[in-house]
Amino acid sequence: MDTLIQACYFAAAILFILGLRRMSSPLTARTGIHWAGAGMLVATLITFFWPGMENYLLMTAAIFIGGVTAWWTGQKVSMTDMPQMIALYNGMGGGAAAAIAAVELLRGEFHSDIFLTLAVLGALIGSISFSGSLIAFAKLQGLIRKPLRFPLQHALNLLIFVLAVGYGGMLVVTGDTSGINLLVFFGLALGIGIMKTLPIGGADMPVVISLYNALTGLAVGFEGFVLNNAAMIIAGTVVGAAGTLLTQLMAKAMNRSIANVLFGSFGGEQGAEESVEGVMRPIDVTDVSIMMAYAERVIIIPGYGMAVAQAQHKIKELMDVLLQRGIDVKFAIHPVAGRMPGHMNVLLAEADVPYDRLYDLEEINAEFAQTDVALVIGANDVVNPMARSNPDSPIYGMPILNADQARNVIVIKRGQGKGFSGVENALFFADNTRMLYGDGKAMTGELIHAVKQY
Ligand code: NDP
Repeated sequence: MDTLIQACYFAAAILFILGLRRMSSPLTARTGIHWAGAGMLVATLITFFWPGMENYLLMTAAIFIGGVTAWWTGQKVSMTDMPQMIALYNGMGGGAAAAIAAVELLRGEFHSDIFLTLAVLGALIGSISFSGSLIAFAKLQGLIRKPLRFPLQHALNLLIFVLAVGYGGMLVVTGDTSGINLLVFFGLALGIGIMKTLPIGGADMPVVISLYNALTGLAVGFEGFVLNNAAMIIAGTVVGAAGTLLTQLMAKAMNRSIANVLFGSFGGEQGAEESVEGVMRPIDVTDVSIMMAYAERVIIIPGYGMAVAQAQHKIKELMDVLLQRGIDVKFAIHPVAGRMPGHMNVLLAEADVPYDRLYDLEEINAEFAQTDVALVIGANDVVNPMARSNPDSPIYGMPILNADQARNVIVIKRGQGKGFSGVENALFFADNTRMLYGDGKAMTGELIHAVKQY
């Protein structure tokens, strides 16, 4: 039986890896999720046959509650709420790893100090990821609207961190993992996640979310060693590695070091007070349609507002209409546009926009100067030139799409709403920019209709 169990865990691990591999392209991502899901099913079912396993009723009840909740929320969640859901589920992964650690630490039956150390490490990291992800969820959901900052905050955070690590070290050295000790240790670890995430704001959130993703993977991997569970070790390592790579990519995209994100004060509320000289000039659909119908080159820049409006299908239709007129149409995708990594890519792939029309920031930025119309739909922070020009701006240093360098810039948005970072956008006040006010989907629909008239 033991060989069969290990073989099943191995098969599950292979399914996880192949699934992840398939998730690297939007074309195969859907089946990748099915493969990884199948791996999880195999791993879950075979666990019931683990020698000496008890509490079948509890296990079944937990799987039922978790499965039904996940199925229901998965069906219900709208595309715009997906990032929050991912933050929440990621937190659950970290929390589950921490819970396993808590049970094992309470039981206190470790073969050696190495396993005790791994359990403590998994508990620490899993707890940080759990509480930090919950705060990230609250921020993305709009439940916490402003970064919380106060004097000596970093010193206090450092103190909590040192205390948590010190307490963890003491657990390992003394081996005294009794209830009260664990309570203090877990309390400190959960405190780190909360306190570290509260001050982080605006444009730094993508980095933090992917960092917690990496931490969850690491915690699961550690607890896999503690339980001697190959599937958990491999799945945890794979998630940890993928999360670490994503964190690095995100940090690079934001031109920040991880330390800067965690200890700096980027994307803060001080930006909310910032104002830009000048006025925003509105334009109507007819004028935009003339401009677009007779353009040679158009670059479309989608942002979070496109996701809110669910305008991706209309944008694809607009692309088709422009292409039929012989206009060169490209999409400029900022790495942190939207509210989750790859958000725009997923939406545009869903609308069948060919992948080779999507260009990364480095690929497209030089082309704006030769572009007749840059059409910004629901993007804000990712096209804010203050990130380039104003050292006092909280988003200074973040690479942006150089939409302002196009001959004409059309911005579709509903009103004067700010972006996620709460910073005023100088692009909207520029001489070559015109604002087409309205919902992204409705305005694109009107634009398609109007362009077809020519
Ligand atoms: P922003 O959040 O900067 O701006 C979105 C804009 O869309 C708003 O200004 C809003 O203006 C407009 N909008 C909202 N609804 C609609 C609608 N129905 N129709 C048209 N426009 C609409 O988006 P960006 O994509 O430019 O930037 C992403 C931001 O999110 C960055 O700051 C990034 O750091 C952050 N972030 C990204 C994550 C990621 O992983 N990608 C994760 C967490 C945060 P108005 O209200 O006037 O319509």
